[in-house]
Amino acid sequence: MTTERDRSAAIRLFGRYLRDLGLPVTQQREVVADVVFGAAGHLSVDDIADTLRGCGERIGKATIYRTLDLLVRSRLVAEHDFGEGFKRYEHRLSNHPIHEHLICLECGKVVEFESNELYRVENNVRREYGFVPVRRRLEIYGLCKECHEAGVELPLEGLTCPIETV
Ligand SMILES: [Zn+2]
Ligand SMILES: [Zn+2]
Repeated sequence: MTTERDRSAAIRLFGRYLRDLGLPVTQQREVVADVVFGAAGHLSVDDIADTLRGCGERIGKATIYRTLDLLVRSRLVAEHDFGEGFKRYEHRLSNHPIHEHLICLECGKVVEFESNELYRVENNVRREYGFVPVRRRLEIYGLCKECHEAGVELPLEGLTCPIETV
């Protein structure tokens, strides 16, 4: 979980980003941003709407979408497409280091992992291709431990490949 201090610092940064763009820092935008900064996982728009409703906030989906769009553009929040037909969002605050994702095709669970090998890959790419890596994204699709142990089998054909569906 994010500390109260990280949360308010992130909201101030977001406010500054909005002002730089000449956009109003509305209370509704701050409330949506606060939900995203305060959550640990990968939130769908429905998750965010549910949380807001639980807090007694009446904020429409259009405002949520628009605020998420601005949060992603500010680079304070990352947008993910795990092939579910909708996007998921997670903040990039400092207590949440760079990580990759394992996505279960059976139950939809998303597990995070870190890999030092990927840094090595980036260094090799830099050496061999003279390419300067800035960011990367690795998503591995398959069966989580629980689904695998429960005996679920996935057909090898017809797996959703996010690259092909873009
Ligand atoms: Zn699973
Ligand atoms: Zn994540």
